[in-house]
Amino acid sequence: MRAVVLAEHGEPLELRDVPEPTADPDGVVVETEACGICRSDWHAWQGHGDWVDDRVPTGQVLGHEPVGTVREVGADVETVAVGDRVVVPFSLADGTCPACRAGRQNYCEGATALGFGPAAPGAFAERFHVPAADVNAVHLPEGVSAVAAASMGCRFVTAFEALDATADAGGGDVVVVVGCGGVGLSAVQIAAALGATPVAVDVREAPLELAADIGAAATIDASEVDDPASRVRDRFGGADVSMDALGSTETFRTAVDSLSSGGTHVQVGLTGDDDRGEVALPVDRVVQDDLTVAGSRGMAPRRYDDIFAMVAAGRVDPGALVTDRVALDAVPDRLAAMSEFDTVGVEVVTEF
Ligand SMILES: [Zn+2]
Ligand SMILES: [Zn+2]
Repeated sequence: MRAVVLAEHGEPLELRDVPEPTADPDGVVVETEACGICRSDWHAWQGHGDWVDDRVPTGQVLGHEPVGTVREVGADVETVAVGDRVVVPFSLADGTCPACRAGRQNYCEGATALGFGPAAPGAFAERFHVPAADVNAVHLPEGVSAVAAASMGCRFVTAFEALDATADAGGGDVVVVVGCGGVGLSAVQIAAALGATPVAVDVREAPLELAADIGAAATIDASEVDDPASRVRDRFGGADVSMDALGSTETFRTAVDSLSSGGTHVQVGLTGDDDRGEVALPVDRVVQDDLTVAGSRGMAPRRYDDIFAMVAAGRVDPGALVTDRVALDAVPDRLAAMSEFDTVGVEVVTEF
């Protein structure tokens, strides 16, 4: 079958013929219907993450935001059947470790990540395998399109978990989102749905226009403003919640500096070669202004019903962030475009 393979870090990705997956006793094989293209794929391709021992090896099939139909079921699987439509969180859990037993499957101690490790070839492929399917395969309700669901394995649930659970954002809160790629735009839409006032910050006009379309109360073009954080403080009295959705010294500081007293920063963006996993924290302000700095990664499968309910009620529409549908052989070029920040919104592979 066809799949997109990380041949060498930073070199063009290759569309290759790879062996068909077969179902482990606890796993299922899923035929891919759609798979979002994400900046995490780009980080993997670039070879980032070695500073936290998380570098994706060459030979890896990428792709971690899939939706599809189950075609083969392992003998021990109890809750998933052939023909079921499923969405799969990128953070695959074993279902048995202390974190999983505490309901924190997105921080599983025995985790593999779909499309990021040899044990879990990804979904930029005609078919892919889901281990521990009773834990990791989430049934998709009728009425949620494949394209809308293609972000629910990663960016959309990451944004939801970060704002709703980690930062407890809600009615009346000013939420500043710095970096309006896929996860940032998702956060803007979700913040609006939670009754908050989203403020979107980016250095590009097109994503800011999209942010305004999907619910941002204000947008700030950081390429035209000396101090975007002071804009947030001047106009809104500061943010109750800030999110760095990109992962750099500059975006982190803009986000944290936007906070008002008692505010919470949640980090979801991972850093690149410039910062290599570390940014400076304004620790005196953290003390003097009672700030909280938190991190958030993915979302546990048991919380998917909360998102499906919001989609069914029309409160969020992940499909509104999708700006293009492409074929599998376009993935190498579309990831290359991310190097120049030349993509807007979410692009989804729909032809395999
Ligand atoms: Zn992703
Ligand atoms: Zn676990």
